[in-house]
Amino acid sequence: MSRVPSEVAAALVASDACGAAGTPQRQSVSINKLSKRLHRLVGQAIGDFNMIGAGDKVMVCMSGGKDSYALLDILLNLRARAPVDFDIVAVNLDQKQPGFPEHVLPDYLRARGVPFHIEQQDTYSIVKRVVPEGATMCSLCSRLRRGNLYRVASELGATRIALGHHRDDILQTFFLNLFHGGRLKGMPPKLVSDDGRHVVIRPLAYVAERDLQRWADHRAFPIIPCSLCGSQENLERKQIGAMLREWDKRDPGRLESMFRALGNIVPSHLMDRAVFPFTSLRADGVPDPGGDLAFDAEPCTVPGDNPVQWLQEAPGID
Ligand code: SF4
Repeated sequence: MSRVPSEVAAALVASDACGAAGTPQRQSVSINKLSKRLHRLVGQAIGDFNMIGAGDKVMVCMSGGKDSYALLDILLNLRARAPVDFDIVAVNLDQKQPGFPEHVLPDYLRARGVPFHIEQQDTYSIVKRVVPEGATMCSLCSRLRRGNLYRVASELGATRIALGHHRDDILQTFFLNLFHGGRLKGMPPKLVSDDGRHVVIRPLAYVAERDLQRWADHRAFPIIPCSLCGSQENLERKQIGAMLREWDKRDPGRLESMFRALGNIVPSHLMDRAVFPFTSLRADGVPDPGGDLAFDAEPCTVPGDNPVQWLQEAPGID
Protein backbone atom coordinates (compact mmCIF):
# COMPACT_ATOMS: atom_id res chain seq x y z
CA MET A 1 0.00 0.00 0.00
CA SER A 2 1.46 3.35 -0.98
CA ARG A 3 1.81 5.90 1.77
CA VAL A 4 2.30 9.62 1.36
CA PRO A 5 2.59 10.78 4.94
CA SER A 6 4.07 14.20 4.26
CA GLU A 7 1.31 15.05 1.78
CA VAL A 8 -1.39 13.86 4.14
CA ALA A 9 0.17 15.65 7.08
CA ALA A 10 0.54 18.95 5.22
CA ALA A 11 -3.05 18.92 4.08
CA LEU A 12 -4.35 17.86 7.46
CA VAL A 13 -2.32 20.41 9.38
CA ALA A 14 -3.36 23.15 7.00
CA SER A 15 -6.98 22.16 7.04
CA ASP A 16 -9.52 24.34 8.74
CA ALA A 17 -12.70 22.80 10.01
CA CYS A 18 -14.80 25.95 9.80
CA GLY A 19 -17.87 25.21 7.77
CA ALA A 20 -17.55 21.50 8.49
CA ALA A 21 -20.69 19.47 8.12
CA GLY A 22 -23.17 20.32 10.81
CA THR A 23 -21.16 23.25 12.14
CA PRO A 24 -23.13 26.49 12.33
CA GLN A 25 -21.78 29.04 9.87
CA ARG A 26 -21.59 31.84 12.38
CA GLN A 27 -19.41 30.73 15.21
CA SER A 28 -17.94 32.76 17.99
CA VAL A 29 -14.28 33.67 17.62
CA SER A 30 -13.30 31.40 20.48
CA ILE A 31 -15.09 28.40 19.00
CA ASN A 32 -13.42 29.14 15.68
CA LYS A 33 -10.05 29.19 17.41
CA LEU A 34 -10.86 26.00 19.27
CA SER A 35 -11.91 24.30 16.05
CA LYS A 36 -8.73 25.33 14.27
CA ARG A 37 -6.55 24.24 17.20
CA LEU A 38 -8.24 20.83 17.48
CA HIS A 39 -8.02 20.07 13.78
CA ARG A 40 -4.44 21.35 13.56
CA LEU A 41 -3.27 19.25 16.51
CA VAL A 42 -4.98 16.11 15.26
CA GLY A 43 -3.55 16.64 11.77
CA GLN A 44 -0.12 17.22 13.29
CA ALA A 45 -0.25 14.02 15.36
CA ILE A 46 -1.41 12.03 12.32
CA GLY A 47 1.48 13.46 10.31
CA ASP A 48 4.15 13.15 13.01
CA PHE A 49 3.44 9.47 13.57
CA ASN A 50 2.36 8.57 10.02
CA MET A 51 -0.91 7.31 11.46
CA ILE A 52 -3.05 7.22 8.32
CA GLY A 53 -2.14 6.76 4.66
CA ALA A 54 -3.85 6.33 1.32
CA GLY A 55 -6.18 3.34 1.22
CA ASP A 56 -6.38 2.87 4.97
CA LYS A 57 -9.61 1.79 6.60
CA VAL A 58 -9.79 3.46 9.99
CA MET A 59 -11.99 1.80 12.58
CA VAL A 60 -12.99 4.49 15.06
CA CYS A 61 -13.90 2.95 18.41
CA MET A 62 -16.96 4.70 19.80
CA SER A 63 -17.85 4.39 23.46
CA GLY A 64 -20.43 7.15 23.45
CA GLY A 65 -18.19 9.42 25.53
CA LYS A 66 -17.09 12.92 24.54
CA ASP A 67 -13.62 11.83 23.41
CA SER A 68 -14.73 9.22 20.90
CA TYR A 69 -17.42 11.53 19.48
CA ALA A 70 -14.82 14.29 19.06
CA LEU A 71 -12.36 11.87 17.48
CA LEU A 72 -14.87 10.75 14.87
CA ASP A 73 -16.07 14.31 14.25
CA ILE A 74 -12.56 15.67 13.67
CA LEU A 75 -11.43 12.73 11.52
CA LEU A 76 -14.48 13.15 9.29
CA ASN A 77 -13.72 16.84 8.87
CA LEU A 78 -10.05 16.20 8.13
CA ARG A 79 -10.81 13.42 5.67
CA ALA A 80 -12.96 15.80 3.66
CA ARG A 81 -9.83 17.89 3.03
CA ALA A 82 -7.17 15.21 2.81
CA PRO A 83 -5.53 14.73 -0.61
CA VAL A 84 -5.68 10.96 -0.27
CA ASP A 85 -8.60 8.62 0.25
CA PHE A 86 -9.08 6.68 3.40
CA ASP A 87 -12.19 5.06 4.81
CA ILE A 88 -13.75 5.48 8.21
CA VAL A 89 -15.99 2.98 9.94
CA ALA A 90 -17.35 3.62 13.44
CA VAL A 91 -17.60 0.66 15.78
CA ASN A 92 -19.29 0.37 19.13
CA LEU A 93 -19.08 -2.63 21.39
CA ASP A 94 -22.41 -2.95 23.19
CA GLN A 95 -21.31 -4.74 26.34
CA LYS A 96 -24.86 -5.11 27.57
CA GLN A 97 -24.46 -2.91 30.58
CA PRO A 98 -27.79 -2.31 32.29
CA GLY A 99 -29.52 0.76 30.93
CA PHE A 100 -27.26 1.17 27.88
CA PRO A 101 -29.28 3.30 25.44
CA GLU A 102 -28.84 1.14 22.31
CA HIS A 103 -30.39 3.61 19.90
CA VAL A 104 -28.22 6.67 20.68
CA LEU A 105 -25.08 5.84 18.70
CA PRO A 106 -26.84 4.27 15.68
CA ASP A 107 -29.16 7.31 15.46
CA TYR A 108 -26.22 9.72 15.58
CA LEU A 109 -24.09 7.77 13.09
CA ARG A 110 -26.96 7.34 10.64
CA ALA A 111 -27.69 11.07 10.83
CA ARG A 112 -24.04 11.83 10.01
CA GLY A 113 -23.95 9.28 7.22
CA VAL A 114 -21.09 7.32 8.78
CA PRO A 115 -20.78 3.59 8.04
CA PHE A 116 -20.91 1.80 11.37
CA HIS A 117 -21.06 -1.54 13.08
CA ILE A 118 -22.50 -2.27 16.52
CA GLU A 119 -20.98 -5.40 18.01
CA GLN A 120 -23.20 -6.96 20.66
CA GLN A 121 -21.29 -8.97 23.23
CA ASP A 122 -22.47 -9.48 26.77
CA THR A 123 -19.10 -9.01 28.44
CA TYR A 124 -20.87 -7.33 31.35
CA SER A 125 -22.34 -10.67 32.55
CA ILE A 126 -18.97 -12.39 32.24
CA VAL A 127 -17.26 -9.68 34.28
CA LYS A 128 -19.99 -9.74 36.95
CA ARG A 129 -19.76 -13.51 37.19
CA VAL A 130 -15.98 -13.83 37.27
CA VAL A 131 -14.75 -10.82 39.25
CA PRO A 132 -15.03 -11.30 43.03
CA GLU A 133 -17.38 -8.94 44.85
CA GLY A 134 -15.61 -5.71 45.79
CA ALA A 135 -12.76 -6.10 43.26
CA THR A 136 -12.53 -3.64 40.37
CA MET A 137 -13.96 -4.94 37.14
CA CYS A 138 -12.03 -2.74 34.74
CA SER A 139 -9.03 -4.99 34.02
CA LEU A 140 -11.11 -7.94 32.85
CA CYS A 141 -13.71 -5.71 31.21
CA SER A 142 -11.14 -3.84 29.14
CA ARG A 143 -9.34 -7.05 28.25
CA LEU A 144 -12.54 -8.57 26.91
CA ARG A 145 -13.34 -5.34 25.10
CA ARG A 146 -9.91 -5.25 23.49
CA GLY A 147 -10.17 -8.83 22.25
CA ASN A 148 -13.59 -8.18 20.74
CA LEU A 149 -12.50 -4.97 19.05
CA TYR A 150 -9.43 -6.63 17.54
CA ARG A 151 -11.60 -9.43 16.18
CA VAL A 152 -14.09 -6.96 14.72
CA ALA A 153 -11.24 -4.98 13.13
CA SER A 154 -10.10 -8.14 11.33
CA GLU A 155 -13.63 -8.98 10.24
CA LEU A 156 -14.16 -5.48 8.85
CA GLY A 157 -10.76 -5.38 7.15
CA ALA A 158 -9.71 -2.31 9.16
CA THR A 159 -6.05 -1.35 8.77
CA ARG A 160 -6.10 1.13 11.65
CA ILE A 161 -7.88 1.07 15.02
CA ALA A 162 -8.38 4.63 16.28
CA LEU A 163 -8.86 5.27 20.01
CA GLY A 164 -9.98 8.51 21.65
CA HIS A 165 -7.22 8.86 24.28
CA HIS A 166 -5.95 12.42 24.63
CA ARG A 167 -2.96 14.28 26.07
CA ASP A 168 -4.23 14.13 29.66
CA ASP A 169 -4.85 10.36 29.43
CA ILE A 170 -1.27 9.96 28.24
CA LEU A 171 0.15 12.06 31.08
CA GLN A 172 -1.98 10.28 33.66
CA THR A 173 -0.79 6.91 32.41
CA PHE A 174 2.80 8.10 32.54
CA PHE A 175 2.45 9.16 36.18
CA LEU A 176 0.54 6.00 37.12
CA ASN A 177 3.46 3.95 35.81
CA LEU A 178 5.96 6.26 37.48
CA PHE A 179 4.26 6.30 40.89
CA HIS A 180 3.06 2.70 41.03
CA GLY A 181 4.75 0.68 38.29
CA GLY A 182 8.36 1.78 38.65
CA ARG A 183 8.56 2.33 34.90
CA LEU A 184 9.00 5.28 32.56
CA LYS A 185 6.13 4.25 30.34
CA GLY A 186 3.25 6.22 28.89
CA MET A 187 0.60 5.57 26.27
CA PRO A 188 1.97 5.73 22.72
CA PRO A 189 0.22 7.61 19.90
CA LYS A 190 0.78 4.59 17.65
CA LEU A 191 1.47 0.96 18.48
CA VAL A 192 1.14 -2.57 17.22
CA SER A 193 -1.45 -4.56 19.18
CA ASP A 194 -0.27 -7.25 21.56
CA ASP A 195 -1.44 -9.95 19.14
CA GLY A 196 0.84 -8.40 16.52
CA ARG A 197 -1.97 -8.02 13.99
CA HIS A 198 -3.25 -4.45 14.26
CA VAL A 199 -1.97 -0.90 14.20
CA VAL A 200 -3.64 1.15 16.93
CA ILE A 201 -3.56 4.94 16.66
CA ARG A 202 -4.44 7.79 19.03
CA PRO A 203 -5.02 10.85 16.83
CA LEU A 204 -6.06 12.97 19.86
CA ALA A 205 -2.66 12.46 21.49
CA TYR A 206 -1.77 16.18 21.34
CA VAL A 207 -5.20 17.44 22.44
CA ALA A 208 -5.99 18.66 25.96
CA GLU A 209 -9.07 17.19 27.60
CA ARG A 210 -10.55 20.61 28.40
CA ASP A 211 -10.59 21.39 24.65
CA LEU A 212 -12.43 18.15 23.94
CA GLN A 213 -14.96 18.98 26.64
CA ARG A 214 -15.59 22.40 25.10
CA TRP A 215 -15.89 20.87 21.64
CA ALA A 216 -18.34 18.24 22.89
CA ASP A 217 -20.45 20.95 24.54
CA HIS A 218 -20.39 23.07 21.40
CA ARG A 219 -21.28 20.17 19.12
CA ALA A 220 -23.91 18.84 21.58
CA PHE A 221 -22.87 15.22 21.13
CA PRO A 222 -25.44 12.77 22.57
CA ILE A 223 -23.16 11.55 25.36
CA ILE A 224 -23.81 8.15 26.90
CA PRO A 225 -22.92 8.12 30.61
CA CYS A 226 -19.87 6.01 31.46
CA SER A 227 -21.10 4.88 34.87
CA LEU A 228 -23.58 2.28 33.61
CA CYS A 229 -21.37 -0.65 34.58
CA GLY A 230 -21.45 0.46 38.23
CA SER A 231 -17.68 0.12 38.53
CA GLN A 232 -15.77 2.68 40.53
CA GLU A 233 -13.48 4.86 38.50
CA ASN A 234 -9.80 4.06 39.04
CA LEU A 235 -9.09 6.05 42.19
CA GLU A 236 -5.37 6.41 41.52
CA ARG A 237 -5.99 7.74 38.02
CA LYS A 238 -8.56 10.13 39.44
CA GLN A 239 -6.08 11.44 41.99
CA ILE A 240 -3.36 11.88 39.38
CA GLY A 241 -5.84 13.70 37.14
CA ALA A 242 -6.64 16.06 40.02
CA MET A 243 -2.91 16.58 40.69
CA LEU A 244 -2.28 17.46 37.04
CA ARG A 245 -5.19 19.89 36.94
CA GLU A 246 -3.90 21.56 40.10
CA TRP A 247 -0.40 21.88 38.60
CA ASP A 248 -1.91 23.28 35.41
CA LYS A 249 -3.76 25.92 37.41
CA ARG A 250 -0.77 26.85 39.56
CA ASP A 251 1.93 26.61 36.89
CA PRO A 252 0.49 27.13 33.41
CA GLY A 253 2.76 25.50 30.87
CA ARG A 254 3.92 22.71 33.16
CA LEU A 255 1.71 20.07 31.51
CA GLU A 256 2.89 21.15 28.06
CA SER A 257 6.51 20.88 29.20
CA MET A 258 5.95 17.41 30.68
CA PHE A 259 4.16 16.31 27.56
CA ARG A 260 6.99 17.58 25.32
CA ALA A 261 9.43 15.62 27.50
CA LEU A 262 7.72 12.36 26.51
CA GLY A 263 8.91 12.97 22.95
CA ASN A 264 12.33 14.29 23.89
CA ILE A 265 14.11 11.51 25.76
CA VAL A 266 17.82 11.43 26.60
CA PRO A 267 18.62 7.76 27.34
CA SER A 268 22.23 8.58 28.26
CA HIS A 269 20.90 10.61 31.21
CA LEU A 270 18.59 7.97 32.58
CA MET A 271 19.62 4.63 34.07
CA ASP A 272 18.30 1.92 31.79
CA ARG A 273 21.26 -0.28 30.78
CA ALA A 274 19.08 -2.00 28.19
CA VAL A 275 18.55 1.30 26.38
CA PHE A 276 21.99 2.90 26.74
CA PRO A 277 25.34 0.99 26.80
CA PHE A 278 26.59 2.37 30.15
CA THR A 279 28.64 -0.74 30.91
CA SER A 280 30.70 -0.54 27.72
CA LEU A 281 31.07 3.26 27.75
CA ARG A 282 34.60 4.48 26.88
CA ALA A 283 36.11 7.93 26.38
CA ASP A 284 37.02 8.06 22.68
CA GLY A 285 38.70 11.49 22.71
CA VAL A 286 36.28 12.89 20.11
CA PRO A 287 34.59 16.11 21.32
CA ASP A 288 30.80 16.08 21.14
CA PRO A 289 29.24 19.58 20.94
CA GLY A 290 26.01 18.18 22.34
CA GLY A 291 27.82 16.08 24.91
CA ASP A 292 27.56 16.01 28.66
CA LEU A 293 28.74 18.92 30.78
CA ALA A 294 28.96 16.58 33.79
CA PHE A 295 30.05 18.92 36.60
CA ASP A 296 27.97 21.80 35.22
CA ALA A 297 24.83 19.74 35.69
CA GLU A 298 24.88 19.52 39.48
CA PRO A 299 21.50 18.98 41.14
CA CYS A 300 21.32 22.64 42.22
CA THR A 301 21.52 24.01 38.64
CA VAL A 302 18.42 25.06 36.77
CA PRO A 303 17.58 23.54 33.35
CA GLY A 304 17.66 26.24 30.69
CA ASP A 305 20.45 28.27 32.30
CA ASN A 306 23.38 28.77 29.92
CA PRO A 307 26.58 29.40 31.93
CA VAL A 308 28.79 29.12 28.82
CA GLN A 309 26.92 31.97 27.16
CA TRP A 310 27.06 34.05 30.36
CA LEU A 311 30.84 33.63 30.49
CA GLN A 312 31.20 34.54 26.82
CA GLU A 313 29.11 37.68 27.27
CA ALA A 314 30.65 38.78 30.59
CA PRO A 315 32.99 41.76 30.18
CA GLY A 316 36.64 41.06 31.07
CA ILE A 317 36.38 37.27 31.00
CA ASP A 318 38.01 35.34 28.13
S1 SF4 B 1 -15.51 1.57 33.93
FE1 SF4 B 1 -16.94 -0.11 33.55
S2 SF4 B 1 -17.06 -0.23 31.31
FE2 SF4 B 1 -15.22 0.94 31.80
S3 SF4 B 1 -13.58 -0.58 31.86
FE3 SF4 B 1 -14.34 -0.36 33.95
S4 SF4 B 1 -15.86 -1.97 34.18
FE4 SF4 B 1 -15.52 -1.68 31.99
